[in-house]
Amino acid sequence: MSAIEPYLPHTRIAYLSMEIALRSEMHTYSGGLGVLAGDAVRSAADLSLPMVFVTLASRQGYLGQEIDAKGWQIDHADAWEPEDWATPLPDVMAATIEGRDVWVRPWLYEWTSSRGHKVPVILLDTHSDRNDLPDRGITHRLYGGDETYRLKQEIILGIGGEQALRSLGFAIDIYHLNEGHAALLPLALLKREAQTATTGDHDVEAVRRRCVFTTHTPVEVGHDRFDYENVTRILGDFIDADPLKALAGEDRLNMTRLALNLSDYVNGVSARHAETTRSMFPGYRIHAVTNGVHPGQWTHPAFARLFCRISPDWDVQPETLAGAVHLSDDDVWSAHLDAKDELIALVRERTGRHFGHDLPIIGFARRMTGYKRAGMLFSQWDRLTDIFRRHPFQIVMSGKAHPHDEGGRELIHDIVRRAHHAEIPVAFIPGYDLDIAKRIVAGSDIWLNTPQPPLEASGTSGMKAAFNGVLNVSTLDGWWPEGCDEGVTGWGIGPEGDYAEHAQVLYEKLERSILPLYAEDRPGWIRMMRQAIAGIGPVFNTQRMMETYAREAYRLR
Ligand SMILES: *Cc1c(COP(=O)(O)O)cnc(C)c1O
Repeated sequence: MSAIEPYLPHTRIAYLSMEIALRSEMHTYSGGLGVLAGDAVRSAADLSLPMVFVTLASRQGYLGQEIDAKGWQIDHADAWEPEDWATPLPDVMAATIEGRDVWVRPWLYEWTSSRGHKVPVILLDTHSDRNDLPDRGITHRLYGGDETYRLKQEIILGIGGEQALRSLGFAIDIYHLNEGHAALLPLALLKREAQTATTGDHDVEAVRRRCVFTTHTPVEVGHDRFDYENVTRILGDFIDADPLKALAGEDRLNMTRLALNLSDYVNGVSARHAETTRSMFPGYRIHAVTNGVHPGQWTHPAFARLFCRISPDWDVQPETLAGAVHLSDDDVWSAHLDAKDELIALVRERTGRHFGHDLPIIGFARRMTGYKRAGMLFSQWDRLTDIFRRHPFQIVMSGKAHPHDEGGRELIHDIVRRAHHAEIPVAFIPGYDLDIAKRIVAGSDIWLNTPQPPLEASGTSGMKAAFNGVLNVSTLDGWWPEGCDEGVTGWGIGPEGDYAEHAQVLYEKLERSILPLYAEDRPGWIRMMRQAIAGIGPVFNTQRMMETYAREAYRLR
């Protein structure tokens, strides 16, 4: 019996994502999009949703990061072996690319929830003897290569993903396209409809009823566009050019347009992002489903033990965390110090720097890319030093830059340079991944996020921080306008104003409110920690997010 068989009778929903972060040893993710998809897997298992998840095997990973003596990121492949973690399933003929049949080996990874429920994740791998040499590498490197390489990967994900699910024996009702990368999937459905039905419009309606699309970024480069010449050369006569242009744009194949036109349920990932998306793409009905994080994944064990006293099911029913307001000061602080100890140990092990327990740690970790404005805290160095001398603190940062993102690479260089020379203790931990993220979001005291509005679609690391009583100070963008109660659950910046004004507000809040509260009114600080857990935990979690998708988008209940 094939390992996939137990899942076939009840599975109705397929969720496709270019990246899914399942565990740090499996290098199938680059950042927030993949971590969100991983937390969706975990909550789908908690909720026993009838789902299967599909992604690429990415054997060569996204990028391994080291920092050279001059402080520059050196990046290299970051290989892992699917055979160490997943079970091979029979090969499937996935798609025709440049006239050649391309096969995939689907790997089955099974996620088991804390209560023992399993959810299947299929990893698509073109690394097969059946394929010509160049085709074996299509699924090797996440976000690697050029436009042609990306298009081939998206063909494997969308067209190959649909074919693989069908060949394995799944009977899928609804396909959830997590970001535009999977937008070729509805084209595969359309092609099947055309083979059985008669009229065109009817086909499109039938496909739309089966597709759900979540868009994740208002940043232009986040929306893939492909030259039709390239598309025709690679996909051949898979679909006629005229109907395709009507669905995906006249000039270039725009994956976001395609997904918008072929999905019945479309959403942005926070209220603010849904609004931005409505103005970017007028004429479409765009819902808002704010992202979340998986409580069990991101809560430090010391806090998890405390939360068990509120409810033994706090992790699967995080709304119970509203009761966190009743936790005692001593319990909250000692759980926090456990998490902080581990972060201090990690900083020492990875950077050689000795951080202390008594000073607050400001944490900042995420993909290093321009709109996240990682350098804002350092933008007026004298001002920061001045604040430091009165209210000392420590800074820990981590994050990778895409190899083509010069701005991101410069940011890392600047941070590492500061880390070497500063009077202020600054540590940069190389190789940001799920494990490092867990330690930083739990062990910091203050979680900093300074994206440029309205470019942060949601952001999730601040939610992870809140589950550990770490207080957010962030631009009011993405999820934060929904989570921020000023001075109660954290602090907000903007969203109006330019870079310099945001930096000004950040320095003022650090100097006048945040650092003095930490140093001079510890009970007041701990009260805010409790309020952050109780105010943010019950809402910004993937149980609530997946229940919303199940009800509104999958029409399951
Ligand atoms: C949560 C997470 C992110 C997303 O961080 P944001 O601040 O939401 O951009 C990125 N990478 C890793 C490894 C994470 O765990």
